[in-house]
Amino acid sequence: MQYKKAYDKWRFIIIEYLSYIVFLILFLEIVVFVYFTYTGIMLSTPQKYFMKYTLFPTAANVSLLAIGNYLLKRDSISEEVKDYIPILCLVGFCLTISLVHNYFLITASIFMVPLMLSSMYGSKKITTRIFIICIAALLFSAVFDGFDSANRDQEMWNINEVIALILLLSSYLLSIVMMNYSKEKEDELRESIIAKYTLEEALKRDPLTGLYNHTEFYRYLETLLDLVGTTVKTVSLVVIDIDNFKNVNDTYGHEKGNIVLVELSKLMTEYCGAKGRVCRYGGEEFVIVFPDLNQDEVWNHIEHIRKLFARRELLPGERVTISSGIAMYEEGITAQKLFEKADTAMYAAKADGRNCSVIFREVTE
Ligand code: GH3
Ligand code: MG
Ligand code: MG
Repeated sequence: MQYKKAYDKWRFIIIEYLSYIVFLILFLEIVVFVYFTYTGIMLSTPQKYFMKYTLFPTAANVSLLAIGNYLLKRDSISEEVKDYIPILCLVGFCLTISLVHNYFLITASIFMVPLMLSSMYGSKKITTRIFIICIAALLFSAVFDGFDSANRDQEMWNINEVIALILLLSSYLLSIVMMNYSKEKEDELRESIIAKYTLEEALKRDPLTGLYNHTEFYRYLETLLDLVGTTVKTVSLVVIDIDNFKNVNDTYGHEKGNIVLVELSKLMTEYCGAKGRVCRYGGEEFVIVFPDLNQDEVWNHIEHIRKLFARRELLPGERVTISSGIAMYEEGITAQKLFEKADTAMYAAKADGRNCSVIFREVTE
């Protein structure tokens, strides 16, 4: 939708600039008319001259603009067709000029202008079609006697037509080169934006588990704490530590230990979904930040995770368990302080024999 709107804007901008060009052409023709009248170098009568060089082109150009403007505003016309309208108006202008001023120099060069303009869409299809239309217009203006057939250099006419066609073909080829160049630049830009985004994302993540890392955890928690009282009602934090993890590594090896870390990470992220953000604090310690949940809800979630994990058969004949500490938001609390409270609660859970959860308040009271 935005894409369409942007094109719509540019179509109207072209029409607007074409209307300035109509005025410029009119102004120029009037100046020349006045100059020729006063210097007496006009070949025909002033009436004929005025009709041919001023009235006819202006009437044709203004009509073209009015039709173009009308068609652009019609909803029944497809976006694709609308792309052609401003360019075709310009082809019309060029045809008028080329018919009125039937000189080789003008006829040969003027159709390059709409062709070049069409390349702004970056569509080879549009530019190729406009190229064909320009050839047709060029041939039409060549075949059509115009007003000045008597002044034509008949012998040169055929060769001039060939030169004009070659010039048009050259500008078509150059437009294609320009389009290929901008396409390549656009692709490069897109790739570098994606690479930058990927790198930024990678810097936020822990490579082993894919979870947000320690830095990102604090950034997120601080942001949430700042929002409490506005879009966020409250924040709670859970610190999770795997029990006797050193034994896992020592008995089954570091690789197996890594699998346990990854499995716990998956279980927690799948369970939490959009409810909370799971991060790897470091080593075998994790944190979950829950916005807008009360203490009971957090307790239920973490107990659910603990029981689910304890049921998993990750090691032969042995269960891996976790201990968790929960801390709730208090007015004015910092991210660091909230973490310390949850961490203290987690150590209380360890002291309680592991494989359990403790709420910070319970520790102090
Ligand atoms: P506790 O129940 O008191 O938490 O005991 P624990 O053995 O889990 O705690 P301790 O702090 O003694 O050991 C943590 C171990 O976690 C030590 C370290 O080698 C291991 N560890 C830390 N990061 C990784 C990792 O990325 N992969 C593996 N496999 N092990 C890790
Ligand atoms: Mg541990
Ligand atoms: Mg630990």
